[in-house]
Amino acid sequence: MKITNAEFTISAVSSKQYPNDLLPEIALAGRSNVGKSSFINKLIQRKSLARTSSKPGKTQTLNYYKINNQFYFVDVPGYGYAQVSKKEREKWGQMMEEYFQTRDTLRAVILITDIRHEPTRDDVQMYDYLKYFSLDVIVIATKADKIPKGKKEQYVKRTRKILQMEQTDTIIAFSAQTGEGKDAAWGAIRHYLS
Ligand code: GDP
Repeated sequence: MKITNAEFTISAVSSKQYPNDLLPEIALAGRSNVGKSSFINKLIQRKSLARTSSKPGKTQTLNYYKINNQFYFVDVPGYGYAQVSKKEREKWGQMMEEYFQTRDTLRAVILITDIRHEPTRDDVQMYDYLKYFSLDVIVIATKADKIPKGKKEQYVKRTRKILQMEQTDTIIAFSAQTGEGKDAAWGAIRHYLS
């Protein structure tokens, strides 16, 4: 996809702040530090539109990026920090539930995992959580440049198995460093925008 325009639109904490122009939305979820910002920036060919290495404790918001005036990427706050308090976790849960439950323009969720490691309990919980809301999930197994080429298929299969992914959900090996998987990722996204 040729990106002619990519702009930060709003940080939202509740539905009152969501944009109301009815453009389709693709949400992005992943553990903190998994490579979510790098994924977004690689896809839209911007060095740092999405902030990299979001630190624990930073404000937990839904960050809207409008792409080509055609759709939104919605960066959802990272999960799985050990340091997060129970109160913060509850606030996160409420915000996510409001979003996933009510957002009619949400077409699919991209879940970022690290291809090198088995999906964590948090990853599995997140996938289950998204399926609970009957959402379609595209899994991006990132940092593929860090594993031997010959092992890729095996690592992708392992991720699919541990997440117990539904057959209709897609998984793509990706690297923000080499750009591997970028076209496949756009293909999967485009499918949900038509
Ligand atoms: P976020 O917290 O999920 O947004 O993670 P970031 O995008 O900030 O990435 C966390 C770290 O992983 C940074 O040091 C990135 O440079 C690195 N990283 C992200 N994607 C890749 C990748 O595809 N390959 C490699 N080798 N490193 C990556």
